[in-house]
Amino acid sequence: MIDPKCKKCRRAGQKLFLKGERCFGPKCAMVKRPDPPGIHTRSRRKGRGGMSEFGKQLAEKQRVKRIYGILERQFSKYIKESTAAIGDTREILLRKLEMRLDNVVFRLGWAKSRNMARQLVNHGHIFINGKRVDIPSYRVKKDQILTLGSIKESNLMKDLPAALKKYETPIWLSLDKEKLEAKVLSEPSVEELGDLNPIGLVVEFYSR
Ligand code: SF4
Repeated sequence: MIDPKCKKCRRAGQKLFLKGERCFGPKCAMVKRPDPPGIHTRSRRKGRGGMSEFGKQLAEKQRVKRIYGILERQFSKYIKESTAAIGDTREILLRKLEMRLDNVVFRLGWAKSRNMARQLVNHGHIFINGKRVDIPSYRVKKDQILTLGSIKESNLMKDLPAALKKYETPIWLSLDKEKLEAKVLSEPSVEELGDLNPIGLVVEFYSR
Protein backbone atom coordinates (compact mmCIF):
# COMPACT_ATOMS: atom_id res chain seq x y z
CA MET A 1 0.00 0.00 0.00
CA ILE A 2 1.53 3.29 -1.11
CA ASP A 3 1.67 6.05 1.49
CA PRO A 4 -0.64 8.98 0.56
CA LYS A 5 2.30 11.41 0.79
CA CYS A 6 4.33 9.26 -1.63
CA LYS A 7 1.36 9.22 -4.00
CA LYS A 8 1.70 13.02 -4.18
CA CYS A 9 5.29 12.62 -5.40
CA ARG A 10 4.31 9.98 -7.94
CA ARG A 11 1.53 12.19 -9.18
CA ALA A 12 3.90 15.19 -9.45
CA GLY A 13 6.48 12.98 -11.20
CA GLN A 14 9.27 14.05 -8.84
CA LYS A 15 10.45 13.75 -5.25
CA LEU A 16 8.72 16.29 -3.01
CA PHE A 17 10.56 15.11 0.15
CA LEU A 18 7.49 14.71 2.36
CA LYS A 19 8.59 11.68 4.43
CA GLY A 20 11.86 12.73 6.03
CA GLU A 21 14.64 10.11 6.17
CA ARG A 22 12.76 7.67 3.92
CA CYS A 23 12.97 10.14 0.99
CA PHE A 24 16.75 9.71 0.85
CA GLY A 25 16.80 5.90 0.86
CA PRO A 26 15.92 3.02 -1.44
CA LYS A 27 12.46 2.69 0.15
CA CYS A 28 11.37 5.98 -1.45
CA ALA A 29 8.37 5.25 -3.71
CA MET A 30 9.93 7.40 -6.43
CA VAL A 31 12.85 4.96 -6.51
CA LYS A 32 10.73 1.82 -6.31
CA ARG A 33 7.81 2.86 -8.51
CA PRO A 34 8.14 6.28 -10.12
CA ASP A 35 5.08 5.98 -12.38
CA PRO A 36 1.99 7.99 -11.39
CA PRO A 37 -0.63 6.20 -9.24
CA GLY A 38 -3.82 4.88 -10.83
CA ILE A 39 -4.33 3.36 -14.20
CA HIS A 40 -6.28 6.37 -15.48
CA THR A 41 -3.58 8.83 -14.49
CA ARG A 42 -1.03 6.55 -16.09
CA SER A 43 -2.72 6.62 -19.45
CA ARG A 44 -3.19 10.38 -19.17
CA ARG A 45 0.52 10.79 -18.36
CA LYS A 46 1.42 8.84 -21.50
CA GLY A 47 -0.15 11.62 -23.49
CA ARG A 48 1.55 14.41 -21.50
CA GLY A 49 3.40 15.55 -24.63
CA GLY A 50 0.00 16.51 -25.97
CA MET A 51 -1.18 18.11 -22.70
CA SER A 52 -3.09 21.35 -23.17
CA GLU A 53 -1.64 24.63 -21.92
CA PHE A 54 -4.29 24.63 -19.21
CA GLY A 55 -3.30 21.08 -18.21
CA LYS A 56 0.36 22.10 -17.88
CA GLN A 57 -0.52 25.17 -15.80
CA LEU A 58 -2.81 23.14 -13.55
CA ALA A 59 -0.19 20.41 -13.06
CA GLU A 60 2.46 22.99 -12.16
CA LYS A 61 0.17 24.76 -9.72
CA GLN A 62 -0.58 21.46 -7.97
CA ARG A 63 3.12 20.56 -7.87
CA VAL A 64 4.16 23.88 -6.29
CA LYS A 65 1.34 23.69 -3.74
CA ARG A 66 2.40 20.16 -2.77
CA ILE A 67 6.07 21.09 -2.48
CA TYR A 68 5.33 23.92 -0.05
CA GLY A 69 2.36 22.09 1.52
CA ILE A 70 -0.05 25.00 1.05
CA LEU A 71 -3.83 24.81 0.74
CA GLU A 72 -5.69 26.48 -2.11
CA ARG A 73 -7.07 29.37 -0.04
CA GLN A 74 -3.69 30.53 1.19
CA PHE A 75 -2.05 29.88 -2.16
CA SER A 76 -4.54 32.00 -4.08
CA LYS A 77 -4.05 34.75 -1.47
CA TYR A 78 -0.30 34.68 -2.22
CA ILE A 79 -1.10 34.91 -5.93
CA LYS A 80 -3.41 37.91 -5.43
CA GLU A 81 -0.83 39.76 -3.32
CA SER A 82 1.99 38.95 -5.77
CA THR A 83 -0.01 40.09 -8.77
CA ALA A 84 -0.95 43.36 -7.05
CA ALA A 85 2.67 44.11 -6.07
CA ILE A 86 5.09 46.00 -8.35
CA GLY A 87 7.69 43.80 -10.01
CA ASP A 88 7.98 40.34 -11.51
CA THR A 89 5.01 38.38 -10.13
CA ARG A 90 6.93 35.09 -10.41
CA GLU A 91 9.80 36.35 -8.26
CA ILE A 92 7.49 37.95 -5.72
CA LEU A 93 5.45 34.74 -5.39
CA LEU A 94 8.50 32.49 -5.03
CA ARG A 95 9.99 34.80 -2.40
CA LYS A 96 6.74 34.70 -0.44
CA LEU A 97 6.92 30.90 -0.45
CA GLU A 98 10.61 30.79 0.42
CA MET A 99 10.31 33.27 3.28
CA ARG A 100 7.62 31.29 5.09
CA LEU A 101 8.90 30.22 8.49
CA ASP A 102 8.30 26.49 7.85
CA ASN A 103 10.29 26.70 4.61
CA VAL A 104 13.16 28.60 6.26
CA VAL A 105 13.37 25.96 9.03
CA PHE A 106 13.53 23.30 6.28
CA ARG A 107 16.16 25.27 4.31
CA LEU A 108 18.27 25.53 7.48
CA GLY A 109 18.39 21.72 7.56
CA TRP A 110 16.67 21.61 10.96
CA ALA A 111 13.98 19.30 9.52
CA LYS A 112 14.17 16.67 6.80
CA SER A 113 10.93 17.76 5.14
CA ARG A 114 8.76 20.86 5.08
CA ASN A 115 6.13 18.80 6.84
CA MET A 116 8.51 18.11 9.74
CA ALA A 117 9.52 21.77 9.74
CA ARG A 118 5.86 22.76 10.02
CA GLN A 119 5.46 20.47 13.03
CA LEU A 120 8.49 22.01 14.72
CA VAL A 121 6.92 25.43 14.23
CA ASN A 122 3.39 24.34 15.21
CA HIS A 123 4.67 22.78 18.42
CA GLY A 124 6.38 26.00 19.47
CA HIS A 125 10.01 24.89 19.07
CA ILE A 126 11.13 27.83 16.93
CA PHE A 127 12.09 31.22 18.33
CA ILE A 128 12.61 34.42 16.38
CA ASN A 129 14.65 37.13 18.11
CA GLY A 130 14.02 35.25 21.37
CA LYS A 131 10.23 35.04 20.98
CA ARG A 132 8.35 31.83 20.23
CA VAL A 133 6.63 31.90 16.82
CA ASP A 134 4.25 29.02 16.11
CA ILE A 135 2.74 30.15 12.81
CA PRO A 136 4.18 28.19 9.84
CA SER A 137 3.11 30.86 7.32
CA TYR A 138 4.86 33.66 9.30
CA ARG A 139 6.99 35.68 6.88
CA VAL A 140 10.57 35.74 8.08
CA LYS A 141 12.44 39.03 7.67
CA LYS A 142 16.01 40.10 7.00
CA ASP A 143 18.25 40.27 10.09
CA GLN A 144 15.98 38.12 12.25
CA ILE A 145 17.69 35.50 14.42
CA LEU A 146 16.18 32.02 14.54
CA THR A 147 16.87 29.55 17.33
CA LEU A 148 15.53 26.19 18.44
CA GLY A 149 13.98 25.86 21.90
CA SER A 150 14.79 23.18 24.45
CA ILE A 151 14.04 20.51 21.82
CA LYS A 152 17.64 20.92 20.63
CA GLU A 153 18.76 19.11 23.81
CA SER A 154 16.37 16.22 23.14
CA ASN A 155 17.09 12.81 21.64
CA LEU A 156 15.14 13.85 18.56
CA MET A 157 17.80 16.41 17.67
CA LYS A 158 20.92 14.73 19.01
CA ASP A 159 22.25 13.86 15.52
CA LEU A 160 21.44 17.25 14.04
CA PRO A 161 24.84 19.01 14.50
CA ALA A 162 26.63 16.04 12.86
CA ALA A 163 24.09 15.88 10.00
CA LEU A 164 24.43 19.64 9.43
CA LYS A 165 28.20 19.35 8.90
CA LYS A 166 27.49 17.90 5.46
CA TYR A 167 24.61 20.26 4.77
CA GLU A 168 25.04 23.37 2.66
CA THR A 169 22.87 26.25 3.91
CA PRO A 170 21.50 28.57 1.19
CA ILE A 171 23.62 31.71 0.94
CA TRP A 172 20.76 33.98 2.03
CA LEU A 173 20.80 32.31 5.46
CA SER A 174 23.69 32.01 7.86
CA LEU A 175 23.80 29.18 10.38
CA ASP A 176 26.01 28.49 13.37
CA LYS A 177 25.93 24.71 13.14
CA GLU A 178 27.17 24.19 16.70
CA LYS A 179 24.89 26.64 18.50
CA LEU A 180 22.01 25.98 16.08
CA GLU A 181 21.47 29.68 15.70
CA ALA A 182 20.59 31.19 12.33
CA LYS A 183 20.35 34.64 10.82
CA VAL A 184 18.37 35.74 7.78
CA LEU A 185 20.88 37.66 5.66
CA SER A 186 18.49 38.66 2.88
CA GLU A 187 15.62 37.40 0.78
CA PRO A 188 16.73 34.91 -1.93
CA SER A 189 18.06 36.68 -5.05
CA VAL A 190 16.76 35.89 -8.56
CA GLU A 191 19.72 33.55 -9.08
CA GLU A 192 18.90 31.69 -5.88
CA LEU A 193 15.25 31.35 -6.90
CA GLY A 194 16.31 29.35 -9.97
CA ASP A 195 14.24 28.78 -13.10
CA LEU A 196 11.20 31.07 -13.07
CA ASN A 197 9.43 29.43 -16.04
CA PRO A 198 7.56 26.76 -14.02
CA ILE A 199 6.22 29.33 -11.56
CA GLY A 200 5.26 31.45 -14.59
CA LEU A 201 2.82 28.67 -15.57
CA VAL A 202 1.26 28.94 -12.11
CA VAL A 203 0.83 32.71 -12.46
CA GLU A 204 -0.74 32.18 -15.91
CA PHE A 205 -3.14 29.63 -14.45
CA TYR A 206 -4.57 32.23 -12.07
CA SER A 207 -4.66 35.02 -14.67
CA ARG A 208 -7.10 33.12 -16.89
FE1 SF4 B 1 7.67 9.27 -0.42
FE2 SF4 B 1 9.61 11.02 0.25
FE3 SF4 B 1 9.96 9.42 -1.81
FE4 SF4 B 1 8.17 11.42 -1.93
S1 SF4 B 1 10.39 11.64 -1.77
S2 SF4 B 1 7.91 9.32 -2.66
S3 SF4 B 1 7.41 11.44 0.17
S4 SF4 B 1 9.70 8.77 0.31
